Amino acid sequence: MERVLQKMRHSTASIQALILALLVTGTASHVAGQVGTGQTVIQKATEQFENSPLKTTILRQGLFMLSGDGGDVTAIVDNGSTLIIDSGMDTRVAELSDAIFKATMRPVTRLVNTHWHFDHTGGNVFFGSAGVTIIAQENVKKRLSSVQNVPFVGLRDGHYPPEALSTINYSSNMTLHQGPQQLTLVNYGPAHTDGDTVVYISPANVAVVGDIFSNHFYPIIDLESGGSIDGMIHSLGEILARTDEQTKIVPGHGPVATRADLEEYRDMLLQVRQRIMDLIAAGKTMDEAVAAAPTKQFDAKWGSGYVPPNVFTQMVFSSLTYSGSTGR
Ligand SMILES: [Zn+2]
Repeated sequence: MERVLQKMRHSTASIQALILALLVTGTASHVAGQVGTGQTVIQKATEQFENSPLKTTILRQGLFMLSGDGGDVTAIVDNGSTLIIDSGMDTRVAELSDAIFKATMRPVTRLVNTHWHFDHTGGNVFFGSAGVTIIAQENVKKRLSSVQNVPFVGLRDGHYPPEALSTINYSSNMTLHQGPQQLTLVNYGPAHTDGDTVVYISPANVAVVGDIFSNHFYPIIDLESGGSIDGMIHSLGEILARTDEQTKIVPGHGPVATRADLEEYRDMLLQVRQRIMDLIAAGKTMDEAVAAAPTKQFDAKWGSGYVPPNVFTQMVFSSLTYSGSTGR
């Protein structure tokens, strides 16, 4: 686990370099977060983010979703401005910015980050330097300000320049207005990280949930950043209580979803959690738990993203064996 891989920014050659570094330092086949042939979860994700076409989807009148260059980005228009939620990968921010302007025909003036991860904040330097106001839950600024290690998935990031940091920081909730829409930003406590924001947009009836939900693959639970399986399930319960059949759910990654999709995902998490709890109660080690394939029934639907079943099992196992499993 000492082999923390620094996510090298600004270079598409970084993946090969990182794989080479892994091979040179000796490939370990049991490194948590490794998905095959020396790749970590973050390397696999980064490769995907750098190579997927950017796609614009109309959510409602004046609301757009841009996907493909990292986390899904939501854009909401006012008469003369655009507010965006998340800023994608740093390597593709010019392309993203062009696509946002093409869709909205208005300059971006405000940016909300759903959490600190690089595929949601990579464009912060670009937008922040252009004078865009950045808004986030207060823990996002703390994490972006200093170096962050997430060895489980092979991520080392953070230490962003001041212009990339949020200047409006909230703790549990805040309200914004953008044109006819009211945006309610809510943090339900640690879930995917300790700085997650869910944005409810009304009357459009859109919920932007960040990486609490990816449509549809197993999630990263960022234990190093305070995330936990119990927190994920808690937040999902809150989101389910506040949405209805007509709500459009913008996930952290993947296509627009429905409340039914979110419910199925929550139920999957509950069942996987229970199975791993049973294995822990039976005295199994993490390796034995992985060998027992507790996610098997769900792998066909959820296991083909960049978090493979064995890594997901390890994350849930680790989350449940931390003290109290209430995050750390
Ligand atoms: Zn994330």
